[in-house]
Amino acid sequence: MIHEILPVGPLACNCSVFGDEQSREAMVVDPGDEIERILEILQRHGLKVTAIVITHAHIDHIGGAQKLKQATGAPVYMNLNDTELQKMLDAQAAWIGMSRVEPVAIDVPAKDGDRLVVGTTEFHVLHTPGHTQGSISLFIPSENKLVAGDTLFRDSIGRTDLPGGDGRQILQSIHQKLLPLPEETVVIPGHGENTTIGREKRFNYFLQ
Ligand SMILES: [Zn+2]
Repeated sequence: MIHEILPVGPLACNCSVFGDEQSREAMVVDPGDEIERILEILQRHGLKVTAIVITHAHIDHIGGAQKLKQATGAPVYMNLNDTELQKMLDAQAAWIGMSRVEPVAIDVPAKDGDRLVVGTTEFHVLHTPGHTQGSISLFIPSENKLVAGDTLFRDSIGRTDLPGGDGRQILQSIHQKLLPLPEETVVIPGHGENTTIGREKRFNYFLQ
């Protein structure tokens, strides 16, 4: 499967483009900003977006979703526990000094246990609240990959001091939903370098 990771926007949110070589279907996860660059990648690989997935409603992850939706016509998936947060995009823009973004309508709720399919590849939705109430992670068993949003990072975990954050809950999510995944699973966090489940199990200070 084609997989390109591009850090977008002032906070360098890791946007993932997944593409199926046969069907040319694609999924874009967290199109926070720089939609032109995302469209360029899609065009270069001859891909057609069939799903736009938002790991959580922070502006650096959802900010470009409406632009991408307009350009591709693809439906937007998000967990509805982040609906309140999504209504606060203007406030969020002010917190981090970003310019305002167009709001996007959510087309499909992403719930724990849902399976999204791109070509023949399954993406399992894991509800991992704590960074926000609607935070989700995507596990792709056949690729040995986990898109973790802002829940788990290399050597760190998501901040929980923003509205909707809960420090106990994020640890519970990570311990119950993420650490039981195969150790060799490559973790693509919402920001920064990739890691693996095994590495974080052993070395992540916050998880000891
Ligand atoms: Zn976030």
